[in-house]
Amino acid sequence: MRRQIMVWIFVISVMCSSLRGTISIYANETYENKDIYNFIQRMYETVLERSGDAAGIDDWYNQLVDGVSDGAQIVYGFLFSEEFKAKNYDDLSYVHILYRALFDRKPDEEGLNDWLDRLANGDSRLNVCKGFIDSQEFADLCGRYKIRQGTIVVSAQEQQQIFVRQFVIRLYEKTLGRQADEDGLVYWCDRLIATEITGADVVRGFVLSDECKSKEMTDIQFVTMLYNAIFDRQPDAGMDTWLRELEKGKTREDVCNGFIYSEEFAALCAKYNIEVGDKNIIDPNKPMVALTFDDGPGVYTERLLDCLEAYDAKATFFVVGTNAAKYQSTLKRMSELECEIGNHTYSHPNLTNVSVSEINRQMNLTNGYISSATGSIATVMRPPYGAHNSTVRSNVGLPVILWSIDTRDWETKNTQSTVNSVLNAVKDGDIVLMHDIHKTTVAAAEIIIPELIDRGYQLVTVSKLAQYRGSGLKKGTVYYNFK
Ligand code: ZN
Repeated sequence: MRRQIMVWIFVISVMCSSLRGTISIYANETYENKDIYNFIQRMYETVLERSGDAAGIDDWYNQLVDGVSDGAQIVYGFLFSEEFKAKNYDDLSYVHILYRALFDRKPDEEGLNDWLDRLANGDSRLNVCKGFIDSQEFADLCGRYKIRQGTIVVSAQEQQQIFVRQFVIRLYEKTLGRQADEDGLVYWCDRLIATEITGADVVRGFVLSDECKSKEMTDIQFVTMLYNAIFDRQPDAGMDTWLRELEKGKTREDVCNGFIYSEEFAALCAKYNIEVGDKNIIDPNKPMVALTFDDGPGVYTERLLDCLEAYDAKATFFVVGTNAAKYQSTLKRMSELECEIGNHTYSHPNLTNVSVSEINRQMNLTNGYISSATGSIATVMRPPYGAHNSTVRSNVGLPVILWSIDTRDWETKNTQSTVNSVLNAVKDGDIVLMHDIHKTTVAAAEIIIPELIDRGYQLVTVSKLAQYRGSGLKKGTVYYNFK
């Protein structure tokens, strides 16, 4: 029984193969233009590694004879067919097939490595295929079969995807010294393509990542890496300036931002057609000011946050614990918008009139409410009424932030007068005192914020102002401004 089946399989397969031979011969004789027929058959053999089926050959033959297709279209049709894709060839096999199908030869080593490098660095198979199609060697091959060479077009959208991949793969290599992992690559590319993030965001993501930090680079290594990654070149004499800035206490993040804030990085982004994005980067050469709001959060604070968010401006909120308890979601939003949250005590007493244990209780209660909403305690504090003495300073455990422009908004409750008190006096490095519990103040802020931005001011938190204009903040020290 089993032998009988084997015999039948043998007979059927012989019949099939002779049938196939018949069709092939028949087809060959049917197609008048032998060159075109041979070109198509050759594509089947070199790309799909089988002989052509009658329907397939027919279709391609008619397209070429009618002039609807050309050599490039045929190559594209084969190399981007479902059948070819299903073979899942790696880059090396893919390029070998391109050499065989389009150049009719084995790859030379230099050429092969060139194409493989392009693919490894983010170029697409379509673009590489186009490189082969547009070459003289393919023109010669088409000449031999007397068919039109043609070309294929890479759409702007496809080209943009290639640029984005190249940009991200390059950063993996220049900052982390390794190849991109597919998950990470997709993560960054998708967000860049969707323009959710910018070139600056990606660079900062890499340079300030835990993986990059874990390399424990020296300052020289770090700055050299920034030159390579952000300026795409070796360091020059400018290196010493960056190293001195680091020695003076500038953070690596500041130095990274300095690199991003440059013509050279803009040029790099332009090369990859990627938006530079500098919305969240502070330019130390432009004026900056810290708007501060006390006694909230209150019913108008969300409206103020809407305005800050719309202009991508930052502010510092000195909150009292009684309100912090009530407005937890507002605190959370402040922190998400990268605003700074300061401690303004729990119930707004004059701290110079209370005991040390009461100072501690006032600070701890409020820090607890800030922490429950945002995950971390206040970074700065402001004593109610600006009242402080040595006991207060040594017990609050945070930098003590006063102000250089007092709007007296709580007294006038007049929007125009609040606006004027800021806009008539503001200078680089100022700290402005306002209160977000008043509707008139929030209305004033809605005028002040766009106007200051219009005048070229960067609206930053107190800590950022201290970082860029001073030399940071120390607990127990009193600050009025940073000029
Ligand atoms: Zn107050």
